[in-house]
Amino acid sequence: MLNESQWWPRDVIDSYQLTQFNRLFLHAKTHVPIYRQMYADFEPPTTFEELKGLPILTREAFSGDPNLIRSEHLPVGTEIFSEASTSGTTGVQVKVLTTNQTEAIRLACAVREFDWYGLDPKGSYCVYRDTYKHPKDAPILQLHRWPFQVIGDLVQTGRGYWIAASAKVDQIIELFTSAGLSYLQTMPALISRLIEADVNNRLHFQLVQTFGEVLDDSAKMLIEEASGAQVRNTYSSVETGRIATACTESQLMHAYEESVLLEVIKEDGTQAQAGETGRVVVTALHNYATPFIRYDIGDYVQLPQGPCPCGRSLMGIERVHGRVRERLLTASGEFVPAYSLFGQITNVPWIREYQLTQMNSQDFLLQYVGEKGEAGALAGVVEVLSNLTGNTVRLEVEMVQHIAIGATGKRVRFVNKTSA
Ligand SMILES: [Zn+2]
Repeated sequence: MLNESQWWPRDVIDSYQLTQFNRLFLHAKTHVPIYRQMYADFEPPTTFEELKGLPILTREAFSGDPNLIRSEHLPVGTEIFSEASTSGTTGVQVKVLTTNQTEAIRLACAVREFDWYGLDPKGSYCVYRDTYKHPKDAPILQLHRWPFQVIGDLVQTGRGYWIAASAKVDQIIELFTSAGLSYLQTMPALISRLIEADVNNRLHFQLVQTFGEVLDDSAKMLIEEASGAQVRNTYSSVETGRIATACTESQLMHAYEESVLLEVIKEDGTQAQAGETGRVVVTALHNYATPFIRYDIGDYVQLPQGPCPCGRSLMGIERVHGRVRERLLTASGEFVPAYSLFGQITNVPWIREYQLTQMNSQDFLLQYVGEKGEAGALAGVVEVLSNLTGNTVRLEVEMVQHIAIGATGKRVRFVNKTSA
């Protein structure tokens, strides 16, 4: 379905997005309470210029009342498929309705991913994630087919597995050592934990597809080296579904522009240019039940310097930097984005996993999993911390056995205890 559109020229993508946006805008302005207020003085945009002048939706704007974002009426042919909610790690839980249309587009995105990554339906596939709501006594579920629908079940697939984030790693290693596994879909923290526990290096996969959080370059290399797999990261959210996935011909990601309209906006409110970093403002073009229009999803991404060598016009993303709420307290009492720090920490050769805690504007604690290493390697980290906070910082370093993973399967790499 999206096989052709990935090669659309830029003007075709633009006009497709603008048309879809307009339809959604009109529907939302009429049938969704929050947009009735927000768009009272706005007409449907006829150009991107006008579109970019529309107000931005924040999570806080509807967090008090989930009905504000729900459509009171659905267009003919639209049916509710399911209800999902965000993990709430951002502090506010968001309830999202999916429909027959969002489901169709999700499937189309998944199929294109399978195509890009060369998945053979005869291989075995495991989903190892927080999303498996398992019965208490069955954190590992074995199936005769893949654990999700593949093109309407027309294709016969190999074996499948659902594994919950709470499953014991030893059991997972045991299972895949004896049965083998071709493809693994998981979260960076979970695969890192699995690799770490696999001391005899028994796990081998063809492909590891990661979802759900930032995948550091160093973590990616570690997974590739240990498991022999190619590692592909997909950027997605509960609110919008898939946003972008790794290109097979470069280090960039490409946005699923048939499904989402992606904007990257700098702190000063202007659009980010090539090479720059900004906040992700995203529109899910096909969700008429809970429309997310120009929605500030709370992430930073960096745009690439130029077009992708693969020749696709689909918007590129150089890097997903992580959450906007990861903010440092400065000496002057302001909060500034912390993302430039994380690359510095992952560059330290003897750190495999870490959690950084800010105690006050001067004191930081870096807990890490790895080896004992030269303290000099941390000079870059201290320098960035000092620049960001405008203070002479003290960095305490502690080697630990594990960095805890939350119930959602996500790792918390930064904790700010200054305002607690
Ligand atoms: Zn590409």
